[in-house]
Amino acid sequence: MSEKSAAVEAEVPYSVSNIKRCMCPQCPVQADSAGTQEKIGNLRNETKSLGEGEAPELQKVPGVYCSTGAASCVLNPNKQCLCKTCAVWGEYCLEHANPMMYFCDIGRAT
Ligand code: SF4
Ligand code: SF4
Repeated sequence: MSEKSAAVEAEVPYSVSNIKRCMCPQCPVQADSAGTQEKIGNLRNETKSLGEGEAPELQKVPGVYCSTGAASCVLNPNKQCLCKTCAVWGEYCLEHANPMMYFCDIGRAT
């Protein structure tokens, strides 16, 4: 039996697979952020031009904050976070992480 606790498992890789599954681009918390909306518009082109296994530069991705930490754009944390509906959240057992939601505001999951 592994001695690693569920909380230790929480480190989320910054990968194309996780970027594609991330719910942040649809989240109301960042819906009114002009900077974020611009990144969402560009994201498809960014990922299309990459080679196998390559991920876009961190600052160009409006999501996977559970991996990369708090957002640089102005967000509205009074709206509902969608992380609990995300496949990445389930896969990495982020209900045991600290923080467990609102990574864009509080910081990455540890
Ligand atoms: S971390 Fe949560 S609150 Fe922040 S943008 Fe993603 S889904 Fe929304
Ligand atoms: S858990 Fe939240 S921040 Fe992490 S990939 Fe899913 S929606 Fe994005």
